[in-house]
Amino acid sequence: MIVAGNWKMFDGPDPRALAGLDAIVCPPFTRLRDCVDAGLTTYAQNVHWEPEGAFTGEISAPMLLELGVTGSLVGHSERRQLFGETDDGVARRTAAALEAGLHVIACVGETLEQREADETEDVLRRQVSVLEPHERLVVAYEPVWAIGTGRTATPELAQAAHAFIKSLLDVPVLYGGSVKPDNAAGLFEQPDVGGALVGGASLDVDSFRAICQAAASRS
Ligand code: PEP
Repeated sequence: MIVAGNWKMFDGPDPRALAGLDAIVCPPFTRLRDCVDAGLTTYAQNVHWEPEGAFTGEISAPMLLELGVTGSLVGHSERRQLFGETDDGVARRTAAALEAGLHVIACVGETLEQREADETEDVLRRQVSVLEPHERLVVAYEPVWAIGTGRTATPELAQAAHAFIKSLLDVPVLYGGSVKPDNAAGLFEQPDVGGALVGGASLDVDSFRAICQAAASRS
């Protein structure tokens, strides 16, 4: 079971309060060093495909590795929806990060409109098809309608999507979308749920710790 906390553009908790927790943290760039120094497994929230260059606002895999960061999220739905990130960009970011030696959590998931139009499998197939299997690659299934909304997928719905993703690409699949201490155990019971990518609840040390505990008791 893998649990990762996505702090988004929030300062997040004191990394020292998370010491010893078997989890990944994805803080904003300004907190990466604090998290590395606190001994946490630290991932960035994005990574560019070039090692350096005229790409204002981006960061490269070698720069992250130099900081002691060991992985990155790629293709989070907020990147796709708010910043125009494409499947092609996700493919390039993921391939470059893996090639450089980082771990990657590549995010996929359908919008509510796509689910209601019965397009979930088509969307997931398209998003997953740009990824190649790799020992340092994990996919996060994050239905967009469940992110930050308090509306979690049922364990059965998550399981069906995870099984579909695993039939396309055999890597661990984390669930993301309003995971909280009170729904984590039910999700973790599903055979193809390999852990969680946690947004809001990862900003609260007690909630994040409780989710990590639910994962540990399932492991
Ligand atoms: C996320 O940001 O990846 C996420 C799943 O957010 P939340 O847990 O707040 O829905």
